[in-house]
Amino acid sequence: MLVNIHTHYNRADSIEIVNCSEKFDFTRYYSFGIHPWDSETNILNFSEIENKAQDKFMLAIGEIGLDKIKGPALEIQKTCFIDQVLIAEKINRPVIIHCVKAWNEIMEIKKDLQPKQTWIFHGFTKVSILESVLQEGLMISIGAGIMNNLKLQEALKNIPNEQLFLETDDSHITILEVYKKVSTLKNLSLSELEQIIENNFKRIFRI
Ligand SMILES: [Zn+2]
Repeated sequence: MLVNIHTHYNRADSIEIVNCSEKFDFTRYYSFGIHPWDSETNILNFSEIENKAQDKFMLAIGEIGLDKIKGPALEIQKTCFIDQVLIAEKINRPVIIHCVKAWNEIMEIKKDLQPKQTWIFHGFTKVSILESVLQEGLMISIGAGIMNNLKLQEALKNIPNEQLFLETDDSHITILEVYKKVSTLKNLSLSELEQIIENNFKRIFRI
């Protein structure tokens, strides 16, 4: 069984965690949260996130995080991120992290808050911070970037199987294409890779 840890589309070609939108019907697995780009406008309010605590389809809070390239001032993003990390701790949900050029700040917040929930670094491409992200114990989710990014392809062998997730995010690639590429690069059969990701999914999301 294929698992897509983060997508913005509802494709039903795998077990997928759809990053919810207003159009979402909430009857499939989804993640819920305020994206850093929206942290000023607060499209959802925090109590709405907390109210999802009883919903078994709501698997994660996300995507949330920090983005130094796009979005409101970093201080505003930080407040919004921290508030949601605290909700994740309260309602026991892993967090899907959006991080653009802000790994140091994210790490600082992690050190301050000492969260117990798993953090998943989604859309990972930045090889230079790989070691640090692994050391902090985050799960790493790889998406379309793996198709053409040679540095990332090379670094993939340093990601332990137990810390790996796969995703399509907002790209139009299929999750099967990502699996095929990663299985070749990791020297695994497709079914071996499926088993690894499925085990990670069940362990992290307690399913
Ligand atoms: Zn996304």
